[in-house]
Amino acid sequence: MAVALLLCTITDIHRVHRVFFLVNLAALLVIFVVRVAFTKRVEDLARRNFRLARILTIGLLLLSSLYWGLLSAALLYVPSMRIAEVPMIVSTAAIAGGATNTFASDRILRALFPMFMMVPSIVVLAIDPDNYQHLMLAITSTVYVLYTMTASRVLGRDYLEAKTNGLLLEERSRQLEERSRELEELSTTDALTKLRNRLFFNTHFDIEWRRACRHHHAVAVLLIDLDHFKHVNDHYGHAVGDRCLQSVGSVLRANICRAGDIVARYGGEEFIVFLPNTDPEGAQVVAERLRCAVAAIELVHEGERIPVTCSIGLASYVPAQSDYGYHLINKADEALYEAKRAGRDRVIASVQQWPDVNPTAPSGSVQ
Ligand code: GH3
Ligand code: MG
Ligand code: MG
Repeated sequence: MAVALLLCTITDIHRVHRVFFLVNLAALLVIFVVRVAFTKRVEDLARRNFRLARILTIGLLLLSSLYWGLLSAALLYVPSMRIAEVPMIVSTAAIAGGATNTFASDRILRALFPMFMMVPSIVVLAIDPDNYQHLMLAITSTVYVLYTMTASRVLGRDYLEAKTNGLLLEERSRQLEERSRELEELSTTDALTKLRNRLFFNTHFDIEWRRACRHHHAVAVLLIDLDHFKHVNDHYGHAVGDRCLQSVGSVLRANICRAGDIVARYGGEEFIVFLPNTDPEGAQVVAERLRCAVAAIELVHEGERIPVTCSIGLASYVPAQSDYGYHLINKADEALYEAKRAGRDRVIASVQQWPDVNPTAPSGSVQ
């Protein structure tokens, strides 16, 4: 529309052919409105029906290019309108060239758009045998259309290549991300029991401890050690010992289910549980539940049921800003020792005072 208005202003054609000018301006306005309205809806339509959206997009673009092509042919054909000949040919070539490059990614558009725009004028110029200049214009316009189409084919190929490479890169980085997630999971999981390992526990205990310090929430730690496990290994063999550890792992996992709770294999036959936001009474209930669940494990070897029990040391505390998390684990360890001394298969809660000073943390401990 803008080009048509510009053409009229510089050529005075609107004065000579008023009706022709007004009808075409109205038609161009309709095309403009339809295309703007369609552009606003096309993304939505493409999501629902991509094929239809593509057909409509190509159809509308080709329709407007054909319209312009016929308009320019009319201007060249009717002698009284030839006042606009040169600006019309130049502007048509410019629009065709620009649009063809823009649509280079689409095989149909990049071939048909310049043809629909230029071929009507080329035909009109070519069938005028008396005008040598028109014949030359027809030849140069044909060369121009062919050149534009070839150039846009190269552009389209480059675009497709870049898009494919981009997609490949995206896929590769997605695979790498997935692999690194798997590796992280693997490095923090105990291979035998499939529980989290000590590395995971230390990292997450640190985070949870700091959170509890900030909010002054009660937290609890349970240290769980299997009773006379050396005997199980020595008497029934390591394979049975391993099966026993796997069963204990499943039982602990099944009984620790609140979001934020952490259960991990801490050492050989030692397990650790961290309970955030849990008061001593709650922790005692959980510990007793775990002890009973372990004692109920049905581990049978050659028809003989192997008794499995555990001792649990419990420590709970409401930490303050300056407290060190490893004190809590030390206290649970001391309580565990008490449970062993008192005869095993029991839960003992720590009654030790929280230390006033914070000595250097032992290596591997959490602060
Ligand atoms: P207590 O009741 O005092 O805890 O006695 P215990 O025999 O359980 O204690 P001790 O620490 O002496 O023995 C732990 C045993 O656990 C020693 C080791 O053979 C066994 N153990 C540690 N890790 C594994 C493992 O991954 N698989 C198997 N089968 N045994 C393990
Ligand atoms: Mg032990
Ligand atoms: Mg033990």
